Amino acid sequence: MRKGLLIVISGASGTGKGTVCKKLLAELPEVVYSISATTRKPRPGEVNGKEYYFLSVDEFKTWIAEEKFLEYAEVYGNFYGTPLNKIEERLNRGDDMLLEIDVQGALKVKKKCPDGIYIFLLPPSLEELKNRIEGRGTENPESLSRRLKNAVAEIKIGLEYDYVVVNDTIDNAAAQIKAILTAERLKVARNADKFDFKGGF
Ligand code: 5GP
Repeated sequence: MRKGLLIVISGASGTGKGTVCKKLLAELPEVVYSISATTRKPRPGEVNGKEYYFLSVDEFKTWIAEEKFLEYAEVYGNFYGTPLNKIEERLNRGDDMLLEIDVQGALKVKKKCPDGIYIFLLPPSLEELKNRIEGRGTENPESLSRRLKNAVAEIKIGLEYDYVVVNDTIDNAAAQIKAILTAERLKVARNADKFDFKGGF
């Protein structure tokens, strides 16, 4: 059976990763979202076990000690981590796993899982990124300026990814990511079994 794809998507805060990922998940039933754990407080409407597993710092540290994470990183003063449980099992079952994680975490996963697909999402421009974060209304001036400075640093790390997609519109970005996944699924290395014509003529 074909092994599932490990898909890692990152992009600076405000690039619209969340919206693009939601669209992909709605349109691609074979793709399963990897729910991260975080010590950040839930935003209005966020549900424990849906967007994230919301943990206390102590709980998060226990998970680290128990080696429950594929990777974890500190982002804007909170911990975020990808729970290891079920990822390998689901990939072996043929499910594709989608990880929406920050650049530090993605580079750690890339070292451990070089056959994953690493996609970096860019905003159309820095101006547009600023407008999107401001429009969200979740940041104060200090955290807005911190997120923008950080965005520029994160975008440089995008050079280490395999693919770059500009999120000009959600539809375009999602279509391009689908094209990447189609091409990846057709790679010879992922389809060695198709060359085995048992016995031949
Ligand atoms: P937010 O608090 O806005 O949901 O997410 C903040 C940042 O944390 C985003 O860049 C998001 O991609 C990243 N993030 C979410 N889950 C994980 C994770 O499991 N590991 C890492 N390293 N970053 C994560």
